[in-house]
Amino acid sequence: MQVMVCGAGAIGASIAYYLASAGADVTVVERAGVACAASGKSGGFLALDWCDGQPVERLARRSFALHEQLAGSLGADWCYRRMTTYAGYEATGDQTGPVDWVGRVAITQKLGGPRTTAQVHPARYTGALMDAAVARGARLLAGAVEGVETGPDSAVTGLVVDGAVHPAEAVVVAMGPWSILAARWLPLPAVYGMKGHSLVYRTGDRLPAEALFLECKDAAGTATPEVFPRSDGTTYVCAISSQTPLPVDPAAVGPDEGAFARLEAMCARLSPVLADSPVVARGACFRPVTADGWPVIGPVPGVPGAFVATGHSVWGILNAPATGEAMAELIETGSTRHVDIAAFAPARLPRLDPALLAVS
Ligand SMILES: Cc1cc2nc3c(=O)[nH]c(=O)nc-3n(C[C@H](O)[C@H](O)[C@H](O)COP(=O)(O)OP(=O)(O)OC[C@H]3O[C@@H](n4cnc5c(N)ncnc54)[C@H](O)[C@@H]3O)c2cc1C
Repeated sequence: MQVMVCGAGAIGASIAYYLASAGADVTVVERAGVACAASGKSGGFLALDWCDGQPVERLARRSFALHEQLAGSLGADWCYRRMTTYAGYEATGDQTGPVDWVGRVAITQKLGGPRTTAQVHPARYTGALMDAAVARGARLLAGAVEGVETGPDSAVTGLVVDGAVHPAEAVVVAMGPWSILAARWLPLPAVYGMKGHSLVYRTGDRLPAEALFLECKDAAGTATPEVFPRSDGTTYVCAISSQTPLPVDPAAVGPDEGAFARLEAMCARLSPVLADSPVVARGACFRPVTADGWPVIGPVPGVPGAFVATGHSVWGILNAPATGEAMAELIETGSTRHVDIAAFAPARLPRLDPALLAVS
């Protein structure tokens, strides 16, 4: 089976890995760089049971297990480890509590322990899955996907990349928020981008494996920073969302004015360790979100051979492995074995009118 996967984020790389492992002939097309977008700039936080009771419960639980399995079997280090996770808020006076590396922060709740919460370095996870796919025969093609070719029976026959048609029996749209562009070529629902900002500090070995979900108030309003110390001696912090327009070129994503300075000031107040650690990376990226908040994973209605996997919102790194596994099963055998993805069928949402995407 000749499959073209559009996008080398965590979702595209995971699909490519499971397809290549099943023996498919896979090419991944990436416009701006493996993990250049949210999959390289996200928190990489994982939780076993935080999606329980939601449509994504099975996908999350299966993914949590697959993350551990992959980290133990692929022979690459993407900073996978179990964590203890707390919630809290910025308080006015010094506090004492279970977390000794924060300043004026009141810890209100333990949200999870090493049995239920974990993390990866998302750029390294995505890069390692892409490398593992390539090691199993997949190809990575640099280029921009521009269209899908179909035959007289409406079935997929090829993918247009930078003006050239590449033959394909199946095409998978996994371009995160840029999947909306594919609604020009395929009957797909809308996918939106929700921007977030992040900082990465070099904190060395001063912080333990403790993740924090906090609430802070400043002159600009309330923010909810998430703090994830990583095993590579860095600490990732993200907050400050906005709905600024998504540029067509993923390489053109930039921060909102003042967002990094605001986040840096917040971090300095939250922890003396962050206050005196250098910032080694600043990131802005878009989560892919659908109209009802759940991913779209499955066949594109009316176009045999066309598939989509996106809209994972705040859980795209967590849910990448089981999404990749399910897509590979679906494309190879016509059904899924481990997770029922019927609830994520693209057909549940209205098709986006392609005329609304008539941009130059
Ligand atoms: C600040 C922040 C923190 C987050 N923290 C977490 C977390 O802790 N845990 C978690 O599970 N999730 C988290 N998420 C969510 C997660 O990052 C996303 O859901 C996930 O990365 C989406 O992956 P993706 O592969 O669908 O999309 P993307 O990562 O956006 O990848 C899409 C790829 O498609 C490529 N592309 C675009 N257009 C084209 C084209 N025309 N041709 C070819 N390629 C193209 C892009 O260059 C990009 O590489 C966070 C998100 C944000 C914004």
